[in-house]
Amino acid sequence: MGPGPGNPYPEVIAAFGRPVLGHLDPEFIALLDETNDRLREVFRTANPLTFPVSATGSAGMEATFVNVLGPGDVVVVGVNGVFGERMCDVATRCGAEVVRVEADWGQPLEPGSLLGAHPSPKVIAVVHAETSTGVRNDIEPIGAGKGTALFLVDCVTSLGGIPLEIDAWGVDLAYSGTQKCLGVPPGLAPVTVSPAAVDAFVERSPSWYLDFSMIADYVTGGGVRAYHHTAPISMVYALHAGLGVLLDEGLEQVQERHRRCGERLQEGLVKRGFELFAHEDHRLPELTSVYVPKDRLPDGLGEADVRNRLLGGYGIEIGGGLGPVSGEIWRIGCMGHTARERNVTLLLGALDEILR
Ligand SMILES: *Cc1c(COP(=O)(O)O)cnc(C)c1O
Repeated sequence: MGPGPGNPYPEVIAAFGRPVLGHLDPEFIALLDETNDRLREVFRTANPLTFPVSATGSAGMEATFVNVLGPGDVVVVGVNGVFGERMCDVATRCGAEVVRVEADWGQPLEPGSLLGAHPSPKVIAVVHAETSTGVRNDIEPIGAGKGTALFLVDCVTSLGGIPLEIDAWGVDLAYSGTQKCLGVPPGLAPVTVSPAAVDAFVERSPSWYLDFSMIADYVTGGGVRAYHHTAPISMVYALHAGLGVLLDEGLEQVQERHRRCGERLQEGLVKRGFELFAHEDHRLPELTSVYVPKDRLPDGLGEADVRNRLLGGYGIEIGGGLGPVSGEIWRIGCMGHTARERNVTLLLGALDEILR
């Protein structure tokens, strides 16, 4: 058996066993450079400032915001789930003026509404793959129509899972996370920043740790590779290895594997009478949202009990609904190393056994 749910790629596990180099050891710097090259390949960008922030995906979000938004700057934020909401919170803490553009949970954002929300925002920010709803927001038309605004995109659940073109789609700032479609444990936030965004950095970021202008030389090799903070060496090894596995398989092939698994899962659920939650033209393959089949829960069991049975009896973890759809939907991730057709077959079979 190859990797199953919960078991990352063997190459990634092996990476954690490597001897831990010093963070300024030339051998480590070379490995970091290669990791950044690999990130540029999966992000589809030539941005020199491309590297993994030393913290989880949310720190990637915070880092992109605190470097370009200061007090009074206008940011248009698309909100149709938890992570768009989190962007508003982060932007507000920067002192920015937040213009919210909303869509109902389960529905995609309207690109025209985002572009028309303000005549001259400094930033337009959107979540590409809303993990809380399973909805894909179209970002290409926003990049095409952004004008002088910087375009900031949350790619935490899209990088590696669905087509994403940072340069061709005009994305200026993007961040991701290791534990979603990249199939690496949580702990790093890959980010990429366009030269135009670098030119628009705030004079002095309120965050010391996430100030890109202090990290840039270390990343790009311009100037001296001097100490800023200690890189989490073993996590960088793991990301390097995970990106190696991904690129060996091929970026398009990995996206195709996610597409096939998502389609098989969603078709399997519909065939069983389940009702999918996300708008049908904007469904993510890597995150399937489905209404809890309340009339088919076993006697005396709630939806959380079914999820516990899946985990305890079959080793499959699925997510519950968040916020307004808590208790109403399930969220089934099929991403990274877990995006295998046999995992879909196992889940559908398990649901057949558990549900009435
Ligand atoms: C998971 C996720 C995040 C947050 O990442 P953490 O690693 O949990 O900090 C942000 N945005 C989206 C879309 C996510 O799915």
